[in-house]
Amino acid sequence: MSEKKEILIVGAGLAGISIAWHLAKKNISFDVIDCGINHSSAIAAGLINPVVFRRMAKSWRVDEFLPYADSFYKEMSSELGQQYFHPIPIRRGFAHQQEYDLWIQKQDEPGYQAYLKELDEEDINFNDLKNICGTGKVLGAGYVSTKHFLEDAKKWLTSNHQLHTENFNYDLLNPETGTYKSNQYKLIIFCEGYHGLDNPWFNYLPLQATKGETLSIESNEIKTNETLNRKCFILPIEGNKFKVGATYVWNDRTLNTTEEGKNEIIKLLDLLISKNYTITEHQAGIRPTVLDRRPLIGKHPVFHKLTIFNGLGTKGYLMAPLLAKECVEYLIDDKTLDKEIDIKRYQSKLNN
Ligand SMILES: Cc1cc2nc3c(=O)[nH]c(=O)nc-3n(C[C@H](O)[C@H](O)[C@H](O)COP(=O)(O)OP(=O)(O)OC[C@H]3O[C@@H](n4cnc5c(N)ncnc54)[C@H](O)[C@@H]3O)c2cc1C
Repeated sequence: MSEKKEILIVGAGLAGISIAWHLAKKNISFDVIDCGINHSSAIAAGLINPVVFRRMAKSWRVDEFLPYADSFYKEMSSELGQQYFHPIPIRRGFAHQQEYDLWIQKQDEPGYQAYLKELDEEDINFNDLKNICGTGKVLGAGYVSTKHFLEDAKKWLTSNHQLHTENFNYDLLNPETGTYKSNQYKLIIFCEGYHGLDNPWFNYLPLQATKGETLSIESNEIKTNETLNRKCFILPIEGNKFKVGATYVWNDRTLNTTEEGKNEIIKLLDLLISKNYTITEHQAGIRPTVLDRRPLIGKHPVFHKLTIFNGLGTKGYLMAPLLAKECVEYLIDDKTLDKEIDIKRYQSKLNN
């Protein structure tokens, strides 16, 4: 970190990379510090699902997030060389009659045609999964190949001498001047994922660590070119390889895989399909979630050089690209943040 840079980003997961990309587009100089181990962005299946099945409703701001994410991953692909976003529909097996009824109701509502394919006989009788009361096909869905995305983004940062693999030490930051070690920055942007819980300036925010486990499986019997979904998902990756998940355990920061987690996924998988498969990998990670399910973005109310970009939750790969753009425009162009994502909503918690 010898050359003087304007901004320091802490964390090179999905959040930090999305911010870095948008700063680079504006020709703003930056350093990125990352400890080199990632327990969320790298573990994630990277599924992009425009629908919330619980309510059979469109995901929050999906009409804005989805096209922007698509163009963001395409732009990265064309500059870094591989395809990261893979469009693939989701086949929802309805869990009960009410879900079917809700789908029928929603498919005709304005704005839903892009996401809920109108049900036909084929959907009702679909039998690549255990069919309880029909299935529906979600359009606009897909997944990001998270491993390649992270590896290539880090190579891009390294080739520009922007990535520094080390632990960020809070004791060495002067929050008033923005000086870290001997470098003075105009802004420090914390993109630390669940490690944000340890951040002494932003630990008043209601960030939560939500543990998740996934399995990788191989099967010559599962024949699907759609992501199958009901209580768990089966995402076809390539050939006979699939990713399956995921569990949710709130307020758990342990990083180990568990028999409990594995058995839960196997149980849900058996409810969804009756095919033979072999488990090839078992992973665990931690999602940075927020109680109100909205990200945490904004400047510290007292130390204005410190900013947080966190709380991407379960839909990070859908939301991060546009949210990073909005965050950079807020920091650099003085644009106003959407109230729903602005950490000002938690200002009253600062001195509690
Ligand atoms: C099991 C599982 C499945 C998931 N599935 C999906 C999915 O299908 N679709 C989806 O959209 N999302 C999914 N997610 C959620 C998604 O992974 C997150 O929303 C997103 O990756 C969070 O990115 P982040 O950059 O905020 O955090 P992280 O990926 O955790 O990145 C933070 C980075 O900061 C670094 N860091 C933190 N503190 C320090 C420090 N002091 N010094 C140096 N470096 C530091 C860390 O090492 C890390 O690399 C899933 C998550 C899990 C765990």
